[in-house]
Amino acid sequence: MSGAALVEAREVSCTFMVSGGFMKQKRRLQAVNRVSLRIEAGEVMALVGESGCGKTTLAKMMMGLIAPSEGTIEIGGRPLASLGRMEIARSVQPIFQDPYSSLNPRRSVGSIVTQPLRVQGDPEPGTWRRRAEEMMELVGLPRRLFHLYPGQLSGGQRQRVAIARALVNRPRMVICDEPTSALDVSVQSQILNLMQDLRSELGLTYLLISHNLAAVEHMASRVAVMYLGRIVEEAETGNLFDSPRHPYSQALLESVLTPDPGLGIPDTHLGASYPNPLDVPPGCSFHPRCARSMPGCSVREPRRVPLPGGGAVVCHLHDEGAAAGTAS
Ligand code: SF4
Repeated sequence: MSGAALVEAREVSCTFMVSGGFMKQKRRLQAVNRVSLRIEAGEVMALVGESGCGKTTLAKMMMGLIAPSEGTIEIGGRPLASLGRMEIARSVQPIFQDPYSSLNPRRSVGSIVTQPLRVQGDPEPGTWRRRAEEMMELVGLPRRLFHLYPGQLSGGQRQRVAIARALVNRPRMVICDEPTSALDVSVQSQILNLMQDLRSELGLTYLLISHNLAAVEHMASRVAVMYLGRIVEEAETGNLFDSPRHPYSQALLESVLTPDPGLGIPDTHLGASYPNPLDVPPGCSFHPRCARSMPGCSVREPRRVPLPGGGAVVCHLHDEGAAAGTAS
C-alpha cells in the first residue's frame, strides 16, 4: 500500500452488554474484535461477510456513531475521538440500503438534498439551492424534481436523492451500506455505475458494505472479509476472487452461485449454522464450520499472516510456524 490513509482503524473493538434473558445477568457481545483497517484516499474498500459479523458496527464507528470500546480510529490523520459530530459529518457520509425508509416522506426532494448544508451549518445559505440542484443533475435527477416528494419517485430516483444528499457537502468518504439491495435488479447496475462515475469525478473514497459479491467485484479495489467480529482475510479484489486463502472466504465466494446471495452463505457448504455471537467458539472462531479444521484450531487463535503481494489472512493453514503445532 502506498497511498495516504484517509481512514485508519487500529485494533478497534466494540462490545455491547445485552440482555441474557428473564432474571439472567447481562451478557457481553463482542461485535467487533481488534480490527485494524486502513482505507486509502480514493479507493473502494469492500467489507463482506454474513449478517451479524460486525460490518455495520465497524462502519458506525467510522462515522462516529458508536465509540470503540478499545482501539483508535483516525480520519485524515486526526483521531476521530477529537472531532465533533459536524466535523465528522463533513468528512464521512452514509448511503443506506433502503431509500424508502431513509428519506423523510414529508420533506421535498429539495429539502432533503439541502438538509446536510442546513444541519452542518454551511455558511452560505444563498448557495444551497444552486448547489443542491447541481448535485441533483450530477446524480441524474432533473431539477424539476426539486419540489416533489419521495412518494412521487421511483426506487432508483429515491436512491439518487439519497446519494445527492450524501454528496452535496462534498464529503471525502462515503459509507455505502448495501446501497442497491432494496432496488430492482434492473436499477442496481445503474446505481453502481453512477457511484463509480461520482467517485472518479468527485475524488471520493468508498467503504462498500455488501452481500452482493458481483457488485463488490465490480467496484472494489480491496476487500476485507469479516467473520464474527474479526477481519479474517484482506486482499486486493482480483486476488481474493481468483484465489481466496481463508476457508471462510472460499465458502463466501461459493455463495455467489446460490440463487440469492443476499441470504448469506448456505449452511450446506459449511456444515453448521452461523454461531451465536454471544457464544463465540474458542480458538479459531470459524472452526465448527471449517472443512479444513485441524485439531489445534479449536484451541489456538490464529494470528494475522501477511500475504505475498499484499493483504493478510488469519488462519493456521497459512502460518507456517503455527501449522506445525496445530496439526495432530
Ligand atoms: Fe479453518 Fe483452522 Fe484456518 Fe480456522 S485456523 S479457518 S479452523 S484451518
